[in-house]
Amino acid sequence: MIFDSHVHTKFSADSGMLAVDALDKAKSLDLGVVFTEHFDYGLELYGKKFAFDPAAYMSEYKNLRGDKVRLGVEVGLRKSARAANTDFITQADFDFVIGSIHLVDDYDIYYPDFYVGKDKETAYRKYFQQMAEEAAVADYDALGHIDYICRAAPYDNNEIDYPTFSAQIDNVLKIVVEREKILELNTRRFYSKLAVEELVPVYKKYRELGGRFVTIGSDAHKVEAVGNYFNRALEFVHELDLTPVTFCERRLEKL
Ligand SMILES: [Zn+2]
Ligand SMILES: [Zn+2]
Repeated sequence: MIFDSHVHTKFSADSGMLAVDALDKAKSLDLGVVFTEHFDYGLELYGKKFAFDPAAYMSEYKNLRGDKVRLGVEVGLRKSARAANTDFITQADFDFVIGSIHLVDDYDIYYPDFYVGKDKETAYRKYFQQMAEEAAVADYDALGHIDYICRAAPYDNNEIDYPTFSAQIDNVLKIVVEREKILELNTRRFYSKLAVEELVPVYKKYRELGGRFVTIGSDAHKVEAVGNYFNRALEFVHELDLTPVTFCERRLEKL
C-alpha cells in the first residue's frame, strides 16, 4: 500500500483537520497515512506555538495506529533548535521523523521579511547551506520538501533551478545519502508542470549519488489535499528508478 507520508491534523498549529476526515479521504484513494505534526521549536504565529504534547498526541491517536496509519512528526531544523528537537523526538515512539527547513537565519521563509534586500542567488544559497548544515547533524528519517523555498519566494522565477544551485544542492544530497537518510518527494507544488520538471535533475542526482528511496507526502493541512497528485508522483518516482517507501517505528518499510 502506498502511503501519504506527510499529513497534518489539529495537533499542528496551522491545521484544523480531524484525523478521521483525513483517513476517510485516504481510504477513498486506497492510501495509508503518516501523520506528521509540526514541531518548530520557538516558532509562534498568530499566537499559536508550532508545538504539541507528544504524549497527548500518541494517546489520542493510539487506536488509529496500525497497518495503514502511522504517527510521526515534522521537526523544523535550525541551529537553535538542535537540542530541543533531539529531546522532543525521544519523548514518544514516533514512527517517522521528517526534518524540514522552514526558517533561515531564524526568519520564517514563508513570509516576505527574509527576502528583503536579497536577490534570489543570495536567498537560495543561504537556504541550501543551512539545509546542509542541519541535514548533517539532525536526527530525522526523511529530509522534507527540498523545494519549500519555491512556495513563497517573491522572485519572477522562484523555481529550484538546479543548474544554478547544483553545488549547494549536491552538497545536501550527498549528506543525506552518506548518512543513510532519504529524501521526501513533496507533492504540494505538483499542480505546476514546471515545478515538477525542475525537480527532475535534483532527484536524478540523488539517484546517481546512491539514493534509492523516497517517501511521498502531500503536506496536507486540509482534507482536500490528502493524497493530491500521487499518480503523478508515482510516475515521477518510477521514471527516475526510485522506490517509494514509508516508515514504521523509525524503520524504513518498502511498500
Ligand atoms: Zn514543512
Ligand atoms: Zn508539513
